[in-house]
Amino acid sequence: METKDNEKDSAKAPSLKEHVKVLIIGSGPAGYTAAIYAARANLSPIMYEGIQPGGQLTTTTEVDNFPGYPNGITGPEMMEDLKKQAQRFGTDIRFGIATTADLSQQPYSVTIDGDKVITADALIIATGATAKYLGLESEEKFKGQGVSACATCDGFFYKGQDVAVVGGGDTATEEATYLAGICRKVYLIVRKPYLRASKAMQDRVNATPNIEVLYEHVTKEIVGDDSGVTGVLLENSKGETVKKDITGFFVAIGHQPNSDIFKGFIETDDVGYIKTIPGTAKTNLPGVFACGDVQDKHYRQAITAAGSGCMAALDAERYLGTRVF
Ligand code: NDP
Repeated sequence: METKDNEKDSAKAPSLKEHVKVLIIGSGPAGYTAAIYAARANLSPIMYEGIQPGGQLTTTTEVDNFPGYPNGITGPEMMEDLKKQAQRFGTDIRFGIATTADLSQQPYSVTIDGDKVITADALIIATGATAKYLGLESEEKFKGQGVSACATCDGFFYKGQDVAVVGGGDTATEEATYLAGICRKVYLIVRKPYLRASKAMQDRVNATPNIEVLYEHVTKEIVGDDSGVTGVLLENSKGETVKKDITGFFVAIGHQPNSDIFKGFIETDDVGYIKTIPGTAKTNLPGVFACGDVQDKHYRQAITAAGSGCMAALDAERYLGTRVF
């Protein structure tokens, strides 16, 4: 038994440290686009896919708004195509999760799966953000079948129908007004007696006749059948149960950028979004670039993520070209 463990350890040991030119963490549209550009620039990028290979789009169904797909494409298919494209130019795509990072000195290092340390001349962070959900069992059950965290991605499927958005911030109010242009009726479920959103967004909501704001309502359960969501049960401030018949339930209670392991080294805002120098993918650390949703709380679209991934690779290429290692 002892011999076997020793053999296993010694077999693993040589691969526990590795130095690479460009390390990309995360495999959504931002990461894959960065990989395509970096690979085509002969930078031999290594990508670690992270906890959700393919990123958030793998949890959506049809993607109809990414230019170049006149008939739409499913999120998972699109991510598979992007992966193949990145591999075609030589990106080494690996399964693994970045568990810790040390960006206190160069070369920067990232530990994968707790035991493999990769040092890199340039690091591209494309770890994305995770939509927050309410945490209800019924919400989990109907994810992708009426429950969504992205109105711009999925709103079109509810054309002419009644839907609900939960949340009271800028995202929720934007999603509600977006959906109001597509759907028959939009309920905006707000747990407080007021909206947190900007005054301008509040005014837009109030001026949109087919949005009904349900203040001081808490979502208790999403109900449905084999066809998907059919309604939502709410509790009002008097403790009464209110039922609304809807087919789509949009959660817009915020996102959490996946930047925890880089905090302390890299500048973020108070929520954790990595700060980049406007018009670039550069962070406050030379040779560390950020792209996609981990640095973008405003747009959060596949196409904007892809665009910023391209920027990150070009910025990395320029950085490496002007440095002697
Ligand atoms: P916010 O954190 O601003 O708002 C989240 C909302 O969800 C709040 O109303 C909060 O309620 C509510 N909420 C949180 N948890 C729950 C829960 N469990 N049940 C019910 N409601 C809940 O997130 P946003 O995504 O709206 O915005 C994030 C940032 O991005 C903000 O700074 C925003 O200004 C910015 N943004 C800007 C845009 C723009 O300028 N165009 C567009 C979108 C976002 P409560 O108020 O009670 O805490």
